[in-house]
Amino acid sequence: MTGAETPAEHDCEQVLTRVYEFLDHELDEASGDAIRSHLAACEPCLDRFDVEQAVKALVSRCCGNDKAPDQLRSKVLLRISELSES
Ligand SMILES: [Zn+2]
Repeated sequence: MTGAETPAEHDCEQVLTRVYEFLDHELDEASGDAIRSHLAACEPCLDRFDVEQAVKALVSRCCGNDKAPDQLRSKVLLRISELSES
């Protein structure tokens, strides 16, 4: 796919399912950029994106439990606030 596309409903679904990979740096740069720019342009996604849930999902994936270390938690929160500002 090429060119700039406006956010659409099906894009939102994709973004929300992949945003955890994005936060966990599992996506390549192009995919990460796509998600980042979608979230920056799409308020509904930011609203639906549950930060607490994202932190839990990341922690359970990398540490095997659902207690979020403060460091990871603040790292995720920082990334979200960066998105919200732009
Ligand atoms: Zn969206």
